[in-house]
Amino acid sequence: MRGATTSAVLAALVAFSGAPDRRTTEGVGYAYPEDPSHGTHEEVALVGLHGDGLRLDGRYVRVRSTRIEPGAPLAAVGSTPDFRHAPGPEGPERCTLSLEFCDRFDAVNVYWHVDRVARRFWRDRMGIDPDFQADAAVHLAGNGALADPARHLLQFRLGDTYTRNAAREDDIIYHEYAHLVAAQLGFVVDTTSTIPARAVSEGFADYFAATFTDDPGIGEYWKACTPRYECVGPRDDPDVRTLATDPVTWNWRDGQPQQELKYGVCTRFVETDGKCKTIWLNTAAVYVWGMIWGSTLWDVRTELGADVADRLAADAVRRLRPARATLETAAGAVLAADLDRYGGAYRAALERAFAARGILPDRAGSVGVDVGPDPVPVEIHPDPASGFVRVRAEGVRRAEAVDVLGRARALVFEAEGAFLTLDVSSLPVGRWWIRLSGEGGIPVAPARPVVVVR
Ligand SMILES: [Zn+2]
Repeated sequence: MRGATTSAVLAALVAFSGAPDRRTTEGVGYAYPEDPSHGTHEEVALVGLHGDGLRLDGRYVRVRSTRIEPGAPLAAVGSTPDFRHAPGPEGPERCTLSLEFCDRFDAVNVYWHVDRVARRFWRDRMGIDPDFQADAAVHLAGNGALADPARHLLQFRLGDTYTRNAAREDDIIYHEYAHLVAAQLGFVVDTTSTIPARAVSEGFADYFAATFTDDPGIGEYWKACTPRYECVGPRDDPDVRTLATDPVTWNWRDGQPQQELKYGVCTRFVETDGKCKTIWLNTAAVYVWGMIWGSTLWDVRTELGADVADRLAADAVRRLRPARATLETAAGAVLAADLDRYGGAYRAALERAFAARGILPDRAGSVGVDVGPDPVPVEIHPDPASGFVRVRAEGVRRAEAVDVLGRARALVFEAEGAFLTLDVSSLPVGRWWIRLSGEGGIPVAPARPVVVVR
């Protein structure tokens, strides 16, 4: 009897504490299919809204306005999940000055685009289901947008002189969201990371946005340039960044890219002081080097198609460790991804693409060695993350990891097509050598050093 009472009390407590409501509701709203420069807003379905769907709070994202109600996802106006708010005229100062000009539309637009890229691109196309709910905010003052993977945070600012409202630009939303997904894949880059690591991170984010929109330009609407009248200057760029760049100029040059690389130029007449002003929106190394890496991936997509390029890019993100990320290791990670996923089928095309952009891939241990009268090409691909070393070489019958004294430690291998796979997961951290021998135990190549890290 006593037991039954306790159960009843517990059941009542559970009901009170509010077991999470797993129902989802489909709402309705307005969004720009692309951005305001590509036509008017349309009615869209808002899928995955939690519970009754009375707030912009769903499976992949919740969106709040920092001006309308900073602490909670945007609420539906009525008692149904109806978020059809037409966008008002643009002008960042309007919402900053008066709440009545802050468009609920902006939050709805961000919800629809984040949900769309999460489902259609990451989950359905790439097989990567984002395991987090992004926490997005609109109507912040200032320029640009921001992703903070540690808090799954996205921020979209209202813009000012040279940029418009980032919440209305599809590729900016996709770019920022790609940073959060990259973090889920283990590639966590923040402001303390090295400049090359941040550049690689920006290049990947631009690439994933561009491949989803099938358009190499980033921020075509977002970039604002007021009239120049009689002012003389270079022709305005149509976007803030692009991945369709000239490989001669936008070239890594083995770590020595042109100093003066810049993009996103705008010349305008400044009425307040009657002067002409020319500025470039992208001059920082993080972004211009990022454009080199993003353009390289775009070249790969042009050559091999989006299906192959998108998968190689995502696999490379998984393989990269932020602390070691450079354009060279990123290129090496793409080659390793090709080896893993496609058996190296695209190696020649990838090497051509990297060479055209002046990037020498760091294959982290892969090597071609000529031995004896018959050259034996050997490649070794340590992958400390998974605890395996993969060896590809003609005529190799046995591969073993040996210590500094030549004592074999890891002998277990399995043939997998042209590959031998060595399990090094039980080896202590430190320096080891991979010894390769052919028929009769005769060495076919000098032992290759590998470093086991964890
Ligand atoms: Zn970014």
